[in-house]
This record gives sequence, structure tokens and C-alpha cells, in this order.
Amino acid sequence: MKFSLPIYADYSSSAPPLPEVVEAMMEWLGSSHANPHADHLPGHRAARAIDDARQRIGDLLGADPEGVIFTSGATESNNLALKGLAGTCLGGLYVSSLDHSSIVEVARYLNDNGECRGGQLQHDLYGSVSPDAVKASLSSGGGRALVALAHGNNEIGTIQEVAAIGRAISDGGHLFHVDASQTAAHVPISVHEMRISTLSISGHKLYGPAGIGALWMDSQLNDELLPLLHGGGQQGGARSGTVPAYLAVGLGTAAKLALDRMTESRAHLASMTTLFLEALHGNGIDPVIIGHPTKRLPGHLSLRFPGATAPDLLSRLAPHVALSTGAACSSGELRASRVLRALGMDEESAGEGVRVSFGRSTTRREAKQAAGHIANAVRAVLDLN
Ligand code: PMP
Repeated sequence: MKFSLPIYADYSSSAPPLPEVVEAMMEWLGSSHANPHADHLPGHRAARAIDDARQRIGDLLGADPEGVIFTSGATESNNLALKGLAGTCLGGLYVSSLDHSSIVEVARYLNDNGECRGGQLQHDLYGSVSPDAVKASLSSGGGRALVALAHGNNEIGTIQEVAAIGRAISDGGHLFHVDASQTAAHVPISVHEMRISTLSISGHKLYGPAGIGALWMDSQLNDELLPLLHGGGQQGGARSGTVPAYLAVGLGTAAKLALDRMTESRAHLASMTTLFLEALHGNGIDPVIIGHPTKRLPGHLSLRFPGATAPDLLSRLAPHVALSTGAACSSGELRASRVLRALGMDEESAGEGVRVSFGRSTTRREAKQAAGHIANAVRAVLDLN
């Protein structure tokens, strides 16, 4: 019997590395392997390959390459920026409750341990945080504050107006950490124009390898950042540990391809979501779209089919479409997504949220077929109720 994998519609969770990325990595995983911190020829070659990767990441972010610190992923990058700078921010750490747990939980930890007073950023119904709301939060005084915000929300897809928010923050003399894990592949970024102090990216959201990410940091903060990891003092002491050349080369290649192909990729993703929504409509199903209607990640849809719970839908869809839900089902009890709850949805509506995210290799056929499977699943679940 032939077994076929479900249509992959979970690129926002993890986007498979591009073939060019895998090819570039193989050399450094194989014949060219060396410790890039070693003082011999193979080590120097590996160090140069890592410097090239830093340059490519810098190009993607409109940033100086010297500010790029390799980490294990965006979770570590967010932890490094927030824990590393919290002690210097007597004005507190302000986060949005809609953001990834690697920001929200770090803020909670720092607050609960008395290391940095926590504050909340207000958002509207679409999850957008306005520059005025940020200014209002920061007006309480108390010294320099740190504001941490995801550029693109990983669950609802809303994109924040980072340039205007950055201006409001830096005009007040505060620091701005941006988690660009979800946007770096899709949205042009310039850390200087956006007045960003520190910024996180993640390899596997950028069609690069999983297990690596980076934190870019403004050089003015070099003497202020407390490292998370102590050891051999690699990467200027900001992050001890041997930099894995094959992963850094993979991330650098992914960054270059993201920049080269951004316009083309955005157009493809926009047409996939349009096709998908039209096909759902053609099948007689019109979902509620969650998050901002236009300022959103391309290819990323946060949806709700009223009356159909996300776990019911996902279990029916499992053989056909791989997608995700913010809801969690533990010991038979549905816990609705904390993000959708924080957006003001009641428990029932929040328990209906699903996320469909397409990628560069999604085909028109897949987008249409995914819509057909989802429409069938919604009808089946509603009929049962
Ligand atoms: N931030 C955001 C916005 C994310 O979407 C993710 C991954 N879901 C992370 C941080 C964590 O990234 P990583 O898997 O690289 O630790």
C-alpha cells in the first residue's frame, strides 16, 4: 500500500532547509570540518566561512556583521538579550502578552526573581501594538527600559510597525529588542532605520537549519550584555562555545537566499493564501480570519471555523494536511490558546483557532487540495455536533 505524507501547511512552525542550504552545509559537515577557533589552516578556513555567514546575516538585517552572535536558536537569542540586558534596565522590561513564550516567560522569570520589573504593552483587537501605546507604557519613568516585541506574531501573523515603535522607544532613550524569527524571510529589515538595539532570528524559520539562530546586537551595548553561557569566551565573550561551522554556513546561505528571493517569495505566498481562501469559499466554507487583515505574515493564516474545535479538526485532518493549533489538549481537557485568549476571545472561540502556513515550495495544487480537505473536515465536525 502506498503511504503519502500529508500536505505540509506548517511552515511558520518550521520551514525545511532549501536544497542550496543543505548543499552548502555538507562541505563543512564533511571534508572541511574544523574548529573555527583553532589556530591552524583548516581552523582559519572555517573561521572565514563563519565570517562570510555573519556578513550575509548582516546584509539581510541592514546591520554590521560584527554585531551578529550565533546561538542555538531564537529561544536562546531572546533569553540572551533579555536576561543579558535586564540588569541595566531599571525602567523595567515591557512585553506583549501575545508574544512567543521565549519572551513572555523570560519576562515573567525576571520579574518573579526580582531581577527586572515587568510591564505589559497594550494591543488592539488585531494584536497590533501602537507606538502611542508603547510611549504610554514607558512614561512612568524610573530609568532606561527594555521593550521586547515580535516583529511578526507566530500565532496570529500580525506584523508590528517596528520602525515607528522603534522611534518612540529610542527617542525616550530606551532599548528595543525585536524578535524577527517570523519576519526575516519575508519583510525587509534595517536595524538602524528601525532603531533596534537587539534582534533575534532562527535558522529553521528562514529555510535554514534547525539548531542555530543569531542575536544581532548594537555595538554600543557590547560592554553591557551579560552572557548566558560562560566558558572559552568565543564570540567576544557574548556566547561561549565552539561555533558549529556547518550550521553557521547554513544560516548564512539561508539569509542570502532570503534576501535575493524576498519579493518573488512574498508574491508566491500571497497567491497561495488567496487561492486557498477562494477554494475554501468555493467549497462553501468561510472562516473567521484572526489577526490583522492586511499587516500580516505572507502565507500565514490564523483561522477559526465557528462550532468546530481545533483538536477535532486536526484529528480529522491528520492524514491529509499538517497544520497547527495554538490550543493544547492535556489529559482530555482542552486548553485554549493563551494568545487568542489574550486577544479577548472567549474560551470556546479561542479553542477553535488553527494556523495554516504555506511556504516557498507549496504548489497551487496543494493549496487547493488543503482547502478541500479542511472544508470536508469542518463539515464532518459540524455534522457530528
Ligand atoms: N520566536 C518566535 C516568534 C518563534 O516563532 C519561535 C519559534 N516558534 C521562536 C521564537 C523560538 O525559535 P527557536 O525554535 O529557534 O528556538
